[in-house]
Amino acid sequence: MNTRRAVVTGGAGFLGSYLCERLLARGATVICMDNFLTGSPRNVDHLLGRPAFRLLECDLTGFVHVPGDVDLVLHLASAASPADYLRHPIETLKVGSLGTLHALGLAREKNARFVLASTSEVYGDPQQHPQTETYWGSVNPVGPRSVYDEAKRFAESLTTAYRNTHGTDTGIVRIFNTYGPRMRPHDGRAIPTFIRQALCGEPLTVTGDGSQTRSICYVDDTIEGILALADSDFPGPVNIGNPTEITMLDLARTVIELTGSASPIRFIDRPADDPAVRRPDTTLAATRLGWRAEVGVTEGLRRTIAWFEAELRRTEELVG
Ligand code: NAD
Repeated sequence: MNTRRAVVTGGAGFLGSYLCERLLARGATVICMDNFLTGSPRNVDHLLGRPAFRLLECDLTGFVHVPGDVDLVLHLASAASPADYLRHPIETLKVGSLGTLHALGLAREKNARFVLASTSEVYGDPQQHPQTETYWGSVNPVGPRSVYDEAKRFAESLTTAYRNTHGTDTGIVRIFNTYGPRMRPHDGRAIPTFIRQALCGEPLTVTGDGSQTRSICYVDDTIEGILALADSDFPGPVNIGNPTEITMLDLARTVIELTGSASPIRFIDRPADDPAVRRPDTTLAATRLGWRAEVGVTEGLRRTIAWFEAELRRTEELVG
């Protein structure tokens, strides 16, 4: 698909800002919509001077209007880190439901392709490992994480209903844990937390006994996967993630090694309903989109650590 004019909701966030950048590099005009709940204009500061880029401060849960043609709506607006969505439970449910309704309405009105940024969290604490797209998940609907998990499950359902009822050209991507430059050092996710702690010489706080696993994908790979889905007419859902699985304890040890830090590891309580394992089966992405993750964990972490070091010096959290 040759995108001419794209709307990126949540475009001033971590992933959204890279998508804005990549679409502009491909010659598209980009309208970035964000209410800065967890993102920041700083993430797209470098794009503001470009005539093809427009930043609109707007809450997706309210009235949404974009004049002119649009041929792609990438819907990323939503708090994404557990610390953020636990701090903003109602906002998270509202943007997953009302925000998705409005983003879908925009895509329908403009006859645009719509891509929902869903999440591996729809699998909850999975009873199937690795997770294929046909697995329905194991989510506690009244647990603390449900504000995010159920909002995304509802958003997937609404997206499917728009496809079936209105013929909207939709795609659903289930994104697995993604990391890289531009994550906020205090966003509460494991990688920014470990890197910040290691660089600042603080103990790395590993939850539980650290045997729980995650599969972590470098941001450039995730962005390529999302764009591959956007360029196709595939409805999905499709997993985008790096199948290399790592325990949280090994991740903490790797960060200590790569930063050369003398920080110890400290074990703290594990949050409620924290999934025990997480690994995508990416066969579908490979066969339908020709996509697979390419950046290894060590290389991805090296790039991320270099960025965090500069960022922590900028904010004067790291001195000397
Ligand atoms: P992020 O918090 O950096 O970005 C989300 C953006 O959405 C922020 O800029 C925020 O201000 C904006 N937003 C929130 N509510 C809004 C509203 N009502 N109106 C307008 N804007 C609003 O998070 P991220 O990591 O970039 O995640 C982006 C998307 O990808 C989210 O939908 C998330 O669920 C999904 N996702 C991310 C990951 C990951 O590992 N980063 C994994 C799975 C899914």
